[in-house]
Amino acid sequence: MIQKTRVFSGIQPTGQITLGNYLGALKQFVNVQHTSDAFYCVVDLHAITVPQDPKQLRERILDLTSLYIAVGLDPTQSTLFVQSDVAEHSELGWILQCVAHMGELSRMTQYKEKSDGKDSVTVGLFTYPTLMAADILLYQSSFVPVGDDQKQHLELTRDIAERFNARFGKTFTLPEVLMLKQGARIMSLDDPSNKMSKSNPNPQSRIEMLDPPDLIRKKMSRAVTDSDREVRYDPKLKPAVSNLLTIYSLSANKSIEEIEHDYQGKGYGDFKKDLAEILVAMLDPIQKRYAEVRNSGEIEGILARGAERARIAAKPTLDLVKRQVGLGSTQHL
Ligand code: ATP
Ligand code: MG
Repeated sequence: MIQKTRVFSGIQPTGQITLGNYLGALKQFVNVQHTSDAFYCVVDLHAITVPQDPKQLRERILDLTSLYIAVGLDPTQSTLFVQSDVAEHSELGWILQCVAHMGELSRMTQYKEKSDGKDSVTVGLFTYPTLMAADILLYQSSFVPVGDDQKQHLELTRDIAERFNARFGKTFTLPEVLMLKQGARIMSLDDPSNKMSKSNPNPQSRIEMLDPPDLIRKKMSRAVTDSDREVRYDPKLKPAVSNLLTIYSLSANKSIEEIEHDYQGKGYGDFKKDLAEILVAMLDPIQKRYAEVRNSGEIEGILARGAERARIAAKPTLDLVKRQVGLGSTQHL
């Protein structure tokens, strides 16, 4: 049997999934699922690096899994599971904390952004990238589909894996980032200098996958634009319109040049109105499928089977790691 390439990625159940998560990450998950042995995780342990309401967190885990399926992930093809159901993630996470250096973690921009202006932050927020490294390395993943904001964490994962392999002998596959040329960094609708995020306190900053049509129209009409009236792609001079053009292009499957041409001589109003309708049409089947899946009563069973498969895949790596490091009392692991 030919072994398929191992792929791993995850999304945090920290809020409603956005168009940024979809265009930058989720669409890639779907694209590679048939040609790879993919593990897609709901990374709940990452979510608690910032405060979460326990009841809401549990709901969001099921919401996110339902969305995974609604956008086209097939749980019989890909392994869908929850991070905390597979204890090996935490165990390897700790071991990798003892391989990573304070200095390299201090350079992580996600930590700087998420801790900026806060009176106190958790230790977990700081060590987040080592748990992410464990998630990926545990499955001997070759490819990791993510958005641009996770590129730095992926580089750190490779550094940690290389250091571990050099010190203890070949243990981990070095993973490569799988990132789109277009759509890897969708920006906020209210401020094109910030990336769109599901945990941004301002809901106007993002389109959520489950937003009803009228809310999408309203958010689009309020989305900021740039000073002149020209629909033209120029990320430096026209960051807001360029971001909308990227969203348009990916959602309508049209090139940016084609769209620029279509809106020559027209203003931002027409452009944004049309974009809203394109998004409504794109999201409609996903929302319908989501409602079916979320109410099907099948999600918990899918996650239980996913966790079982994930544990089987994860255990040999953790056993090898422990043997290499000299941990534990069982000599024959
Ligand atoms: P949070 O604000 O809680 O960190 P988030 O929107 O950044 O939420 P994550 O769960 O951290 O979402 O990331 C899930 C995946 O979505 C990652 O692969 C990440 O790179 C990708 N992603 C997040 N935001 C964007 C964006 N604006 N554009 C493209 N990809 C994105
Ligand atoms: Mg994030």
